[in-house]
Amino acid sequence: MSLALVEAGLSETRAVDRWWLEPQRMLQTNLREIDATMDLDRYVREVKDFGANVVLFNVGGIVGNYPTELPYHYRNPHMQGDLVATVLERLHAEGIRVIGRFDFSKINEKFAAQQPEWLYVSERGRHVNYNGQVHTCVSGGYQQEYMFEILGEAIDRYPLDGVFFNMIGYQRSDYSGNYHGLCQCRACKDKFREYSGMELPKTRDDNSPVYRKYLEFTRMMSDRQFNRVNAFLKAKRPDLAICTYTPTGVDIIRMESNRPLGQGTYHDTDKAKATLLTAGERQLANCAVHFIDIPYRHAAVSPYLTIRRIWQLWVNGAWLDFYCIGPLQRQEDRTGLDLVQALYRFHGANERWLKRTRPAGEVALVRRGGAEYDGLLQVLCENQVAFELTTLDASSLGTHPLAIVPDAGGLSEKDCAVLDAYVADGGKLLLTGKIPPALKCLKDAAFQQTRPAEKGSYIRIRAEDRQRLHRADLEKLDLVFLQGAFHVYDGGEGVEGLLRLIPGDMFGPPEKCYYRTVSDHPALLVVRHGRGVAACFPWEIGSHYERQGHQGHAAIVMGTIDSALGLDRRLRVVTSPLVEVTHRQGTDGTFEWVALFNHSGQQGKVLHRPVPIRDIAINLRPSKEVKAVRLLHAGTELPLRRENGRVTVAVPELNHYEIVLFKYAE
Ligand SMILES: [Zn+2]
Repeated sequence: MSLALVEAGLSETRAVDRWWLEPQRMLQTNLREIDATMDLDRYVREVKDFGANVVLFNVGGIVGNYPTELPYHYRNPHMQGDLVATVLERLHAEGIRVIGRFDFSKINEKFAAQQPEWLYVSERGRHVNYNGQVHTCVSGGYQQEYMFEILGEAIDRYPLDGVFFNMIGYQRSDYSGNYHGLCQCRACKDKFREYSGMELPKTRDDNSPVYRKYLEFTRMMSDRQFNRVNAFLKAKRPDLAICTYTPTGVDIIRMESNRPLGQGTYHDTDKAKATLLTAGERQLANCAVHFIDIPYRHAAVSPYLTIRRIWQLWVNGAWLDFYCIGPLQRQEDRTGLDLVQALYRFHGANERWLKRTRPAGEVALVRRGGAEYDGLLQVLCENQVAFELTTLDASSLGTHPLAIVPDAGGLSEKDCAVLDAYVADGGKLLLTGKIPPALKCLKDAAFQQTRPAEKGSYIRIRAEDRQRLHRADLEKLDLVFLQGAFHVYDGGEGVEGLLRLIPGDMFGPPEKCYYRTVSDHPALLVVRHGRGVAACFPWEIGSHYERQGHQGHAAIVMGTIDSALGLDRRLRVVTSPLVEVTHRQGTDGTFEWVALFNHSGQQGKVLHRPVPIRDIAINLRPSKEVKAVRLLHAGTELPLRRENGRVTVAVPELNHYEIVLFKYAE
């Protein structure tokens, strides 16, 4: 390719408006076919007042909301004129972008009868007709070919800003949760045989190699589908954002938070950080689902749950994204709409500070180890340690001064080499569980044996441990319980062994409830290596906190981070554990901020309005000299005290959420 062509290509790339690369405020009013009769003036006014700048609007697939010319595209019978054209023009006039929603997972029964080869076939050899909509198959002609005709028609006619696909992939159940199994259509049989040389499995069997091959096939087909969609749409419109529930071929990964019960307090924080960790340039739009469950889509979850979801997503770099069934004017459970609107408008009014930011949490947490990870994440959140999730590679660990690796025993040689280099270069490393054999920085701690869980065992906190861990909340604790395996290491030369294992002993009857020995086995090992330092809890301290929530375990972790490993944290916050912080900085280098969220309204499974939390002290070592500190929500300036390169402010009252903005001097 000639240089001129290369340059032409580059300037073309530059010219494409990739508007989605900054977090947006999306509102999905998922229209029912009867909503074609809604009041359009009111629709546009309500979307605008809501503070949304992107609307996810139903365009085609199951129901076409425009006068389609395609013979197998079902036109909304409730529609007069051209709903898509009218709404698009009106929203664009208000500066609001529109992502068109398509759903090719089902087709109207009158077309289904004419094109049976497009349809999903259940394990019992039947088509699935749900409310007049018949399930189609990814392998069949509808999703492989006809879908592109519908997309092409819509894209050629309407200046949409993006396209969203619902219900992608190989579906096995209907909306009532009835399981119909693996598709047995002709196209699946042929394509699977072509792919694998095997016959299509007739049912799910996790132990069968054919079934495992089938899963690989469905993933391949789904990826291929979205790579084709991407090539097709971007050739027509490079500025069109593609959004759906897969990371392949998309610009915006869509997810949902839709289960009101059974998800932890930090669920959406974890989800946002974990998804964006490997997303590259792709964005995350994770919708807070308004309704309680699919069969009850007119009834809302707690407003405070909705706000928690949206907040945890956006402060970690995702879009604001809210989804309800039907337009705002037809909501029958309107509780919480005002709170979402207030949050959207707050974000809109402060875009200067909220849109172009990057993570600034200094502790790196590696996402592995199940309950061990969950417990450590909770300790960090409750102690206002600003952290980010990382993978085990040098660029991801980056400049984080401290890294935590839960359940480290199974790390590969390559992972260990990365961690050794990290510590040699000055990093502070905290592991839990078994020390992986290939790790050099902790090799002086010699492994002896693994003691299985023993009832009645404890970890002794001695006077010298208390002094070293330097935590006031350990003053009244001489032990914490140990409820799991313990890996015994000899503290060799250069190994500082802290805390001691108390082996399991008598716990009943009360007359006989006392232990007789305290071992010499350290329960925390600390070793200096190169310019850094490594430490390991040779037991699963995080899982203990996840299970029982005893503050002693949390205090030991925090004492290890702050004192034994000696992290001089950039951000220190003194407040209730019910306040969650997030630390980000502006990409333009003119500010950083600390987000505060008040979790105090949670009572078991119920989320109430939080009670105000007062006098939150924030002490920050800023990246640059700070000129002013401002509370973006309260709209007030805070007096600041400067000392030793640090800035201290006091937030008088946190009602629900706040952004504490540290503006740098020019
Ligand atoms: Zn099929």
